[in-house]
Amino acid sequence: MNISIDFDKCCGAGQCVLAAPDVFDQRDDDGVVVLLHPRPSAEQEENVRQAAALCPAAVIKVEQ
Ligand code: SF4
Repeated sequence: MNISIDFDKCCGAGQCVLAAPDVFDQRDDDGVVVLLHPRPSAEQEENVRQAAALCPAAVIKVEQ
């Protein structure tokens, strides 16, 4: 699994961090997402898919 993010369109909602805290974090100053693991482990995949589905800005793209 590969993750790509359109950082410019992230609105800092934090849904991704709630869904997959081992993969996503947020910058302290403006809340923009930080991608901790662009290629997450297999056990993280479901959480990452949920994060992508929940992201209100739809900026998380997942490729197999
Ligand atoms: S859920 Fe989407 S908009 Fe919110 S912080 Fe994560 S990537 Fe950004």
